[in-house]
Parts: sequence; C-alpha cells; structure tokens
Amino acid sequence: MENVSNRVAQLAVSETLAMSQKSRELKAQGFNVINLSVGEPDFHTPDFVKDAAKKALDENITFYSPVPGFPDLLQAIADKLKRENGLTYGTDQIVVSGGAKHTLANVLMATVNAGDEVIVPAPYWVSYVELVKLAEGKSVVIPTTIESDFKITPKQLEEAITPKTRVLMLCSPSNPTGSVYTRNELAGLAQVLAKYPNILVLSDEIYEHINYVGKHESIAQFPEIFDRVIVVNGVSKGYAMTGWRIGYCAAPKWIAKACQKLQGQMTSGTCSIAQKAAAAAIASDASYPKMMCKAFEQRRDKVIERLRKIPGFKTNVPQGAFYIFAEVAELLGKKFGDEVISNTADLCMYLINQAHVATVPGSAFGAAEYIRFSYAASEEELMEALNRIDKAVQALQ
Ligand code: PMP
Ligand code: GLU
Repeated sequence: MENVSNRVAQLAVSETLAMSQKSRELKAQGFNVINLSVGEPDFHTPDFVKDAAKKALDENITFYSPVPGFPDLLQAIADKLKRENGLTYGTDQIVVSGGAKHTLANVLMATVNAGDEVIVPAPYWVSYVELVKLAEGKSVVIPTTIESDFKITPKQLEEAITPKTRVLMLCSPSNPTGSVYTRNELAGLAQVLAKYPNILVLSDEIYEHINYVGKHESIAQFPEIFDRVIVVNGVSKGYAMTGWRIGYCAAPKWIAKACQKLQGQMTSGTCSIAQKAAAAAIASDASYPKMMCKAFEQRRDKVIERLRKIPGFKTNVPQGAFYIFAEVAELLGKKFGDEVISNTADLCMYLINQAHVATVPGSAFGAAEYIRFSYAASEEELMEALNRIDKAVQALQ
C-alpha cells in the first residue's frame, strides 16, 4: 500500500541537503554547529534586486507568467549571453525554470531516452547522476583525481563514448572541485565532440561569476558544436539568490521548445516576482558577483593555508566556485575510541557529531576518498571550523 514508485525508491536523497538539514537539527538542539555542507553564498541578495521584486509586487505582477519566462527576462538573458559570453541566442532559445537544478532536470527529461548513456565526469555535482536516473538514462562516469586537477582529457572523453552516448555533462567552474577548464582544454573536448553529431553537451555554468583565473569560458563558444550545446545558468550563486529559485537554459530551439512543453505540464512559468528580481540582476553589470568573488578568493587562500597544516588533508587550489574538495584517504581506517572511520560518510558524521562542523562525504560526488566543504562562510567561522576539524582529526588513532 505504502510502496513508492520504483522511480523514487531508486533515487538517493540529496546529501548536500541532508547534511544541511542535520546541521539545522543540531542547531535547534542548541549546538553551535558551523554548516559548511550546503553551497550557497553567505551574502545577501543585492538591494537593487530586492527593489525590483518589491516593485513587481506593488505593480501586481502576481499572475501566471508565460511558461518560458517573461519576455523582458528572456531578453535580459539573451543580452547577457551576448555581452558576457559572446554567444548569440534568440529569446525563443531560452527557458527560465525554478533554479538551475530544475533546468538540468528539464533538459535531461527532454533529451534522454531509456537506456541512453550520459557521460558524467567525476567528481560530479550530487544531483547529476540522480537526475539521469530519473530520465531512465545510464550514467557513464569518467573518474578523475586531484593529480589531473579533476579535469577530463579529450582521450578520456573519446574512450567513454559509445553508440549509445546521448549527453556529456560538464561543469566549469566545478562543484565540488572548483576546477576551471581553460579555453584550450574545452577546445580539445569540442574537437572530439565534433566527430559525434548525436551527442549533446549539457554545460552547467552556474559558477560562472565565481572564477579566480579570469574570463569565463563556455564550451558553447565553438561553432562546430554550438548547435548541440545547452548552456545552464542562473542567479543562485552569482547574485546570492539561492532562495529565489531562478535558473535558465539557452539551447537549440528544439530543446528549448521541449523544455517549455514539459514545464507547461509540470510547473508552469516560475514565480513572477522572482523573475522580475532576476531580470534586474541579469541586466546589471557584474559588479556584485565581482565583489563576492574577491571575498571568496581571499577566504580560499586563508582556508588552504590553514588546511595544509591539518594532517591527512590533501587539496588542490580551486580556481572557482567556493568549495574545497580534500582528499582524506589517510584518515580512513582510523579510530575514535571503538568507532572506526571506515569511509568518508563516517568521517563527516564524526566531524558533525564531535566538532560540530557539517561537511559532505565525497561519495555523494562519486569520489569516495574525499570530503567537500564550502568556504562561503565568514572568515571567523571558517577558522573556527578548521580549528575544530584539526582537533577532531588529531584525536583519531
Ligand atoms: N549546478 C550546480 C553545479 C550547483 O552547484 C547547483 C547548486 N545547488 C545547481 C546546479 C543548482 O542551482 P539552483 O540553486 O539554481 O537550482
Ligand atoms: N549547490 C549547492 C551544493 O552543492 C546547493 C545544494 C543543492 O542544491 O543540492 O551544496
């Protein structure tokens, strides 16, 4: 009677959200928990964006919106893609959804048939493989390690391609590793993809504005594959708007149309007020994201410096996003009293229970010997968290 569908039964719970919930629960019990599990800017949405939302309310923009989004928002996105990325899209190639997560779900549902293969470089963001499952596709994971800065090579890509490959998912700047593909590296991947006209590229660029190495590079810039790339972006990370739930894709027309059809049955157009706020954010110059990015970069440097003094933690220097993805293999198998830390899920539980610091196990991202934590927190909190982690790790035997 109470059996859920197989579709839901086989789905994993989002571990980023689960760890965040656990940290909320401990906080409610009075513990001083530092939550570095969920990744979201600790900045507030800029005032000019909030003003646009207030204005929308005052103007009674409270009715259903067009399914793909208000025309002014679609235009603001098309202008942004031209201005910031040099990409030309018509407004009929853009669909706005309830966050980039929803956009990714739409695109996979709209393009993947049962049994189709989706190439997912690991470490990957938690929801990728679960969304592929929902679309009845099969994830083909390409593992990478800290030694290659977690990036795939053209050779690895070519080896993963089969006649069943439908989509390649790419994320740059990457969650969870912070790696950023250079233009040359993307060109190498595009060269391989050019040989396989049936493969689509789902390019998740949600961390575009949090990039410490310069200009954002999109794989959509290569004309030989442009008509097969779906660019996914949104306002959650760049404009500190995670709660507003606005994401979008810019895609070939047939995919935009399919997403619109799907969304027309499942959710309708997304929140009218949030769309007006997002239009203001996207039409603005990128000074707000630049300000945040500078702050994140300073925190990254301090965190890496401190982390390197903690035994058992090995990290690269992330070039974007706001995560540290640390290799902790040396700590596995150690003990706290009778308790064995046999995997990174155990380690994260140990850290939250003993040090009251919430992190996420690498297994959630397809990389078993790592843990992820976000440095989108105040410097004071970060240093306190690292001191606590250091102490907890030293207590392991
Ligand atoms: N892609 C990546 C790589 C992310 O880290 C996130 C943040 N959760 C998303 C997509 C989804 O973003 P949104 O909050 O806009 O749904
Ligand atoms: N992008 C964030 C993270 O990876 C948000 C959590 C989520 O949407 O799963 O932590």
